[in-house]
Amino acid sequence: MKTALITGASRGIGNAIALHLKNEGYRVLGTATSQAGASKLENQGIEGLVLDLNSFDSKEQLWEEVESKKIQISILVNNAGITRDNIVLRMSEDEWQDIMNVNLNGTYYLSKKVLKMMLKLKWGRIINITSTSASIGNRGQSNYSAAKAGVEAFTKSLAREVGKRNITVNSIAPGFIDTDMTQQSDGVNKDELIKEIPLGRFGKPDEIAHLASFLCSEEASYITGQIIHVNGGLYM
Ligand code: NAP
Repeated sequence: MKTALITGASRGIGNAIALHLKNEGYRVLGTATSQAGASKLENQGIEGLVLDLNSFDSKEQLWEEVESKKIQISILVNNAGITRDNIVLRMSEDEWQDIMNVNLNGTYYLSKKVLKMMLKLKWGRIINITSTSASIGNRGQSNYSAAKAGVEAFTKSLAREVGKRNITVNSIAPGFIDTDMTQQSDGVNKDELIKEIPLGRFGKPDEIAHLASFLCSEEASYITGQIIHVNGGLYM
């Protein structure tokens, strides 16, 4: 049985991906930032782990736990992400650094760790969740857009490095998806956003999870280094 690790699995898109993979028969480990979130995952049949990507110690503790349990991960979904919106002129160092730590540095850290397992297994899938904002930018999201664009460039470079090892690396770039993240968009009118989306609605977490589970499958074995957009036509 293949084992998948999904960061930020306690809510939203990550939770949908974790449940899809569990239902398809994978062993699934999912992370939350709190023990309560990890316990919620256990109730869903997902092995819950605590991870705060803004803390180097937390990353190291997670990895020690994985290694001490001798878990061999062959699928990594770098999904955890946060926003700290502000215009550049008002952005604090913390607002910039927190975004880089969670959205970009976390992806590098975990990818490097699991690659060593994937090389031994001679098979691997890394899926990074980025955003339409990496391609088109967003006012007030220079930090988030830069981090996601960084993950997309990382995706392509890593895909070139490990392709011959039977490891694929891809990004899924969602548009607006109905999750807690899009509930908290300060001062943004949802009806105005919807007018910009050809399909006339926000997406659902399941609509991202379907693609993630396809990218994990054997059928997706010749797809690597791609940024796949799922956005209702918002960006094309
Ligand atoms: P969400 O509902 O806000 O869930 C975020 C997840 O990330 C939660 O599981 C959360 O854990 C975890 N998390 C938060 N801070 C973390 C940290 N410091 N370290 C590790 N994990 C952390 O978000 P979502 O909308 O599902 O977004 C998932 C991914 O899709 C993100 O990368 C996001 O940037 C991307 N995305 C979302 C949209 C959208 O419209 N929703 C669009 C484009 C891209 P806790 O439950 O413990 O807080």
